[in-house]
Amino acid sequence: MTSVQQSIALAPQSSCDADLAAGPWVFDLSPGYGPGASEADVLPDPVVRPGQLPEAYQQMDEAELHRRIRAAKQTLGDRLVVLGHFYQRDEVVQHADFVGDSFQLANAALTRPDAEAIVFCGVHFMAETADILSRPDQHVVLPNLAAGCSMADMADEDSVETAWEELLDVLGETEPDGRASVVPVTYMNSSAALKAFCGRNGGIVCTSSNAATVLEWAFQRGRRVLFFPDQHLGRNTAKAMGIGLDAMPMWDPRRPLGGNTEEALRSASVILWHGFCSVHRRFSVAQIEQARAQHASVKVVVHPECPMPVVDAADAAGSTDFIRKYVAASQPGDVIAIGTEVNLVNRLAAEHPDRTIFCLDPVICPCSTMYRIHPGYLAWVLDGLVEGEVRNEIVVDAAVAADARVALERMLAALPKS
Ligand code: SF4
Repeated sequence: MTSVQQSIALAPQSSCDADLAAGPWVFDLSPGYGPGASEADVLPDPVVRPGQLPEAYQQMDEAELHRRIRAAKQTLGDRLVVLGHFYQRDEVVQHADFVGDSFQLANAALTRPDAEAIVFCGVHFMAETADILSRPDQHVVLPNLAAGCSMADMADEDSVETAWEELLDVLGETEPDGRASVVPVTYMNSSAALKAFCGRNGGIVCTSSNAATVLEWAFQRGRRVLFFPDQHLGRNTAKAMGIGLDAMPMWDPRRPLGGNTEEALRSASVILWHGFCSVHRRFSVAQIEQARAQHASVKVVVHPECPMPVVDAADAAGSTDFIRKYVAASQPGDVIAIGTEVNLVNRLAAEHPDRTIFCLDPVICPCSTMYRIHPGYLAWVLDGLVEGEVRNEIVVDAAVAADARVALERMLAALPKS
């Protein structure tokens, strides 16, 4: 058991979600796909829900699960690649061939052309992206289909299509200077259907590393940007580029015109979707003040999915990769408070025992959807591969994948600013 698991089990009230202390097989028992699923995805048959994991795997002790995972990996050799996201729990990450953010992992899979199966220990949109970028004969597997992303769920295809129609009604398709009236930009943390929407409509995908380059790309082609699903990444990036807050109205998909006047939309530069990451939204200026009060020399680094006042109050902000490099560049004895997912923070602290590294949020709040990838699921899908059966395969519809690839290729060409 890792420190995160142990802490949640010992003191569930110290976690952001008391359900995390429950057994791994009782999460999300509702029928259908898990959060973050693409509407256009092909549903595996049979769909295995958490509670339906074969009883033998539910009963197996952790040591046996790890033994099975190692044995399956050895049997499959180069025919398999296991990817682990930075936010994934340690007992799963220990089996990963590559550890990184969603974009790094999709690229890492491309370096293993002999892999017949790519097992993605992340969340649904990440596995979708890996499927889009991988060869058609490679199978992408998500060990637990209930591992979605609550932020990705906040922008569904129908709501974005409706918003798009309303915006074009007000703004028209083009500006007098020939640019588009609005360019859609979706964060990587979105369904394949929304990446395809951007590909079809002259838009692009961004990551937290290259969001500024992507916004510049979009403004060369359009007067405004519709940015979804994460309002905070959009706001923090646009603000750093000098765009005023009054030119960044919020689009609430439950209200006509997103809750805006036509005039506000005409004078907008970036229209921000009402979405957020439930993990990063928890960080606050008060936590930063407390860290500074307790450690006079503390440096605070946060992820740009955090609210704007938190980013403004921090010493630095950037993607998970930026945060890793920030820590790597620090000196022994330094004190660093980090505003991102607790599994990554704990891992960085373990990698740098000569520094004081801690999570800004004293409450344990892992990405609860990614947490659904328990070693039991990993053992079950790997045993299936050994037996010649692909379980929990993620297959993006071919037409959706083709349009999404257009937006992803634009993203790949938009290099992060150094
Ligand atoms: S940390 Fe937030 S944005 Fe990332 S996968 Fe989890 S819910 Fe989604």
